[in-house]
Amino acid sequence: DAAMYAVKRSGRGRYGVYTPELDIRVRDAEMRRAVENDEFVVHFQPVVRLTGDGGGMTVEALVRWNHPARGLLMPGAFIELAEETGAVVAIGEWVLREACRQAAGWQTVNLSVNLSARQVTRTGLAETIRDILAETGFPADRLVLELTESVILHPDEATVARLEALRAMGIGISVDDFGTGYSALSYLRTLPVSVLKIDRSFITGIDTDPDTYAVAEALVRLAKAYRLQVVAEGIETAEQARCVTEMGCDYGQGYHFARPMPGPALAELLAARLSPERS
Ligand code: C2E
Ligand code: MG
Ligand code: MG
Ligand code: MG
Repeated sequence: DAAMYAVKRSGRGRYGVYTPELDIRVRDAEMRRAVENDEFVVHFQPVVRLTGDGGGMTVEALVRWNHPARGLLMPGAFIELAEETGAVVAIGEWVLREACRQAAGWQTVNLSVNLSARQVTRTGLAETIRDILAETGFPADRLVLELTESVILHPDEATVARLEALRAMGIGISVDDFGTGYSALSYLRTLPVSVLKIDRSFITGIDTDPDTYAVAEALVRLAKAYRLQVVAEGIETAEQARCVTEMGCDYGQGYHFARPMPGPALAELLAARLSPERS
């Protein structure tokens, strides 16, 4: 097997066969141990209101792994594997609990949390979330769950029921990275979706390229036709912010407004925003 390669077994002076399969098992165990050892960290990125009174801030919880040897890892370095092995269920539950716990101490902030396919298709999701909300005191009607299109393209009956149960609790459902998946629009009709987040790839270039602008504008109009709230992701310049506001986007998220930051920094930002002394 070309995929197999030999490694020296530690301290034994013998050679064993180290397969990708074994590697995956080792890394899965490492991720599960990391949950136990509190090695994961949640950062928060503001999602700002572009229209209206500017009130009602939302923050998105984004996981990082404070790895003892490799330093702070971004989700791109581990989420896909965690999804593959199933470790993402434990990680995701930890993120939900930790994000709700921190956000419960902040004033009237809405909290958005990413859910993986594994979590959404699992029995007991609604009960788990109900328990976490009860335990942390975070109100259900200020929680939004972000699902990607690939998760919801072909939902089975139980998953639809699960999402409806969450919606009935007052929890919002948002479609993340909209436009990058299969974009079958039928699910927008059949699933209890409330928010649509237009992926960054459609926002990059709206301020310099008329065709890109036109496509983004069409996506915003589509979302409006389904009576969904629209968030534009990945806004990096003032000009892009101006463009999406002009298109009628309700919310914007991106480095132009703020980068993801640790909870205490976000709390400070919220306090400064609410402070009457602010000039
Ligand atoms: P996402 O949910 O679409 O989150 C937005 C990502 O875009 C974040 O990357 C954020 O840091 C980045 N971003 C925000 N504004 C800008 C911008 O202006 N420019 C650029 N270039 N990037 C921007 P991050 O934190 O690396 O997360 C990547 C993805 O990992 C997330 O994409 C989400 O799909 C996944 N993820 C993060 N946290 C969790 C989690 O707790 N559970 C699960 N299942 N997935 C997560
Ligand atoms: Mg997201
Ligand atoms: Mg997103
Ligand atoms: Mg994205």
